[in-house]
Amino acid sequence: MSGIRTPIVCLLGHVDHGKTTTLDKIRGSAVAEREAGAITQHIGATEVPLDIISKVSGDLVKKDKFKVPGLLFIDTPGHHAFTSLRSRGGSLADIAVLLVDVTDGFQPQTHEAIDILQDFQTPFIVAANKIDKIPGWKTNKKDVPFRLSYKNQEKRVKEDLDNRIYEIVGKLHDKGFNSDRYDRLKNFKDNVGVVPVSAKTGEGIPDLLMVLIGLAQRYLETELEFEEEGPGEGTVLEVKEEKGLGKTLDVILYDGLMKTGDSVLIGRADEPVETKIRALLKPNPMEEIRESGSEFSKVDEVRAAAGIKVAAPDLGSVRAGFPIRVIGDRDTDSLKEEMKSQVEDVVIRTEESGIIVKADTIGSLEAVIKDLEDSDISIRRADIGSVSRRDIIEANTIQEPLERAILAFDVDILPEARKKAEKEGIQIFNDDVIYRLIEDYQEWIDRRKKLQKEKRLENIIRPGKIKILIDHVFRRNDPAIVGVRVLSTIKSGYPLMNQAGERIGQVKEIQDQGENVEEANPGDEVAVSIRGPTVGRQIEEGEELYVDIPEKHAEVLKTELKDSLTEKEEIVFQEIIDIKRKENKYWAI
Ligand code: GDP
Repeated sequence: MSGIRTPIVCLLGHVDHGKTTTLDKIRGSAVAEREAGAITQHIGATEVPLDIISKVSGDLVKKDKFKVPGLLFIDTPGHHAFTSLRSRGGSLADIAVLLVDVTDGFQPQTHEAIDILQDFQTPFIVAANKIDKIPGWKTNKKDVPFRLSYKNQEKRVKEDLDNRIYEIVGKLHDKGFNSDRYDRLKNFKDNVGVVPVSAKTGEGIPDLLMVLIGLAQRYLETELEFEEEGPGEGTVLEVKEEKGLGKTLDVILYDGLMKTGDSVLIGRADEPVETKIRALLKPNPMEEIRESGSEFSKVDEVRAAAGIKVAAPDLGSVRAGFPIRVIGDRDTDSLKEEMKSQVEDVVIRTEESGIIVKADTIGSLEAVIKDLEDSDISIRRADIGSVSRRDIIEANTIQEPLERAILAFDVDILPEARKKAEKEGIQIFNDDVIYRLIEDYQEWIDRRKKLQKEKRLENIIRPGKIKILIDHVFRRNDPAIVGVRVLSTIKSGYPLMNQAGERIGQVKEIQDQGENVEEANPGDEVAVSIRGPTVGRQIEEGEELYVDIPEKHAEVLKTELKDSLTEKEEIVFQEIIDIKRKENKYWAI
């Protein structure tokens, strides 16, 4: 018998825009309505059944009009979960919610999320979050539909919100999407609905659920059709060791039926493994855990869409992101072949952070992974195939500069990907020898680290000293321009002090025979303009001046840059220290 399954929903958005709080709120409203029954606890996901959506949204959702049974929210929000959890071909999520903080607007990860959604062609809505933070906003009642809350706001508060929504609408327009506040939209297929919400007070959350279920009902019905008795298909969310159960898999089932005792094939890097489901487990609610002491209870069968824990033998090298399929009455060998080719598209997700690895075959991929692991290089995702635009988009979600890299083993780099990589500053390494590939990456890291250090050290102010020449005053002040003999290198911009340790000004420019120069070295006789002092007052002809080194810089000179000091600099540095310590005994100790 065919039916409509629960759509899978994922939340995306810039950090701190409210993904976690929104999920908690949704979970909270579902839990609060527990008496209504039908709450299913899931592994790695939260299901909100239609009953509850219809209850919390009042007359917004007439449940008899809907065939979609509810919504299944993936508990791990964010771009990483979205891009690495895949079903056949696309993303595991059928719909997405893009969180935008109305008080903060579009931020880098908002743009990134839209690029990702566009790339996966996943329908989405925008939750314009934190409306309670709009100046003057009044929350009369929690968890109410937006309309009721909006009605009670003062005119200027309404206008303020509307302006913020228009800003979001404008930004979406720049990205090629038509959108509007959801209650002003008729067609959600060609337009993105913007739902004003507060994850904190719950205002607008009923609307959010309603729009999601409406969208699913109207535009995803065919995608959500499934054979209720068909062989189950899912994606491994996580591989977990559980007390008393050994290695288990947290699985999101997105199609068909899975039963205890079913023979299944699970994709692995080399060859799918065939095993038998020993137990299917769902999490127990808190109070039951307290009573029975057990975290899970067994179920005989589970239907898509659902999050479930699978206990089975032989889970050796199964990793997150791999497919799991019930064999049913299908031919094992041909299913195996099919899955093998499918695994070639499937992601091997390993760490939360790390680089992206691509290789031409499963075998070579495994070899690269192993060598990288041996070198303690973490891998965020490893998979088969050319380096695509999608890989670059994912790499661009990585903040750590040294991990914004893709290691490609003997695969093509698609021109589009190369272009985007250049634009976004993603480094691609490509070689057909594994150790060379890894060496190149490590050299790049070393170079970058060195550069960072050099850049920092370059800005350290070094010990310099000059002597003002007699009869060489070209201008007395504003700035003072004098001829000097350089005793230890000075640079333009350096602060200067006298022998008593008093700051007298700053080197503005240095001129050597009429030419501006950046620095002057020992023995040079140059003209220096000094911002600050007047000759005859703060400085005198014949006087010796020192560079006024900041204490922090002196500490670096004593440690990291110690070996780089010239003999002259060393002497002058000691003189400077002596001057400074007259004032402060502990200066740069
Ligand atoms: P995430 O990084 O996107 O998961 O964001 P969080 O859900 O962790 O939220 C970041 C911060 O914003 C937290 O301090 C939340 O309490 C706060 N926050 C989230 N939603 C709202 C909201 O609707 N109103 C207000 N006032 N604060 C919120």
